[in-house]
Amino acid sequence: MTDNAAHMTPASLEQIERAIRNVPDFPKPGIQFKDITPVLADGHLFGSVIAHLLEDVRPGSVDKVVGIDARGFIFGAAAAVRIGAGFIPVRKKGKLPWATHEQSYDLEYGSNTVAIHTDAINPGERVLLVDDLLATGGTAAAALKLVEQLGGQVVGVRFVIELRFLNGRERLGTDAVRSLISY
Ligand code: AMP
Repeated sequence: MTDNAAHMTPASLEQIERAIRNVPDFPKPGIQFKDITPVLADGHLFGSVIAHLLEDVRPGSVDKVVGIDARGFIFGAAAAVRIGAGFIPVRKKGKLPWATHEQSYDLEYGSNTVAIHTDAINPGERVLLVDDLLATGGTAAAALKLVEQLGGQVVGVRFVIELRFLNGRERLGTDAVRSLISY
């Protein structure tokens, strides 16, 4: 295992962007869905995304990676293993089995609720939040509130993709936000 994806020169952001599939009108008319499954299916590209996400994260500077249901789990878990941090899932309401804190946020129509286990993060632990895509920022803002509620210290927020025209970044209340590919 000396020449696996983790040891190769990372693919460029342009190569990664070329592999993202744009699916028009999914899941509803007017939405252009950014499908990252072709990136995941390519070991070199997947490993390269993780390398880029962690580019400015110093070894030993993160205690817990928090990933957001569901695609945030994929990138967040891989990132956690790579830096030797724990992984914490923020899940949709009703999925976590133990005691939870919940946070609701508004969608265009209706609302969503996300949850975290009450013992997931110890006060003062350094947290890196990871998700696949930043759109309006509602989901990530709710996840950040849950981390803060537990006393976690957010040291970074990372997205593979950011839809800049939706200004989601403004809702996050931190300047530690980085994304690899913007539209
Ligand atoms: P938001 O709360 O609006 O920032 O939405 C973020 C979540 O919705 C992310 O976890 C994405 O997985 C998903 N999402 C929103 N818009 C898109 C899109 N155009 N393509 C793919 N996923 C999206």
